[in-house]
Amino acid sequence: MFIQLAKDGIFPITRDKAGNPLKKLPASGFTFPGTIQGEGKLNGIPSLFIRLAGCNLHCCWQTPEGVVECDTAYAAFKIEESFRLPVTDITRIVKHNRENIRHIIITGGEPLLQAEGVLMLCRELKKEYPFHITLETNGTLFNEACAAEIDFFSISPKLASSTPPSPHDRRHSTTRINLGNIQSFITHARQYGKDFQLKFVYSAEHDGEEIKKILTQLTDWRNEDILLMPMGATPEELQRTIPKTLEHCIRNGWRYCDRLHLSLFGNKQGV
Ligand code: SF4
Repeated sequence: MFIQLAKDGIFPITRDKAGNPLKKLPASGFTFPGTIQGEGKLNGIPSLFIRLAGCNLHCCWQTPEGVVECDTAYAAFKIEESFRLPVTDITRIVKHNRENIRHIIITGGEPLLQAEGVLMLCRELKKEYPFHITLETNGTLFNEACAAEIDFFSISPKLASSTPPSPHDRRHSTTRINLGNIQSFITHARQYGKDFQLKFVYSAEHDGEEIKKILTQLTDWRNEDILLMPMGATPEELQRTIPKTLEHCIRNGWRYCDRLHLSLFGNKQGV
């Protein structure tokens, strides 16, 4: 079984699948493998990331600074540098870079486009070590067998403000919210004593109303499961979005979600 990985693939790592040192140091600038989770309830926890290529959405935000594409466009829809690896190789690479890391984050793109590969990957990883596995997903797809292998669901439903220009707008608009699948993640998490978060990117005033509308159609969530993260990768963008994001969080009882990676590493890939 193969998985199509984004160009940063498995990161940050310092050894190859045979355990030999890589010539290039990770983008984190560290001489050791691993980074921290930079967003959400597991913020700060040492982790290794596995980034899958391809997404069924095409998010772009209209801002005063212009159109801002998804910050992982290279993993989502500009995937020319993506590559395939057998699941067994991915597991070996993780094994040689694990050190004291217990948390694996499977992200994308949208990982569940490759649900069979994700399922096998989770099973192989858990044979190797009792990893805690996070799935970062846009919530449009659900797979019960995969969910059974995942410990934490980071679901990031995409709001109308993420609609791209033509010709991608139509498909994006009809696909971006799948309430049934978002509910399936929540119900699975509640049923099996797991945790989840619904993480929304806040870019403009009307996002707050849309989030409330989505939440009224879902059950079994608590305010502390709802996270708002300011949109933006530059200090100028964040200066504009942070105050309103904070205001919406405080007024609605939702969590504020920092973008810790930006302050620690800047706007870099593979960190
Ligand atoms: S769903 Fe996520 S990965 Fe896919 S295009 Fe949107 S922001 Fe990018």
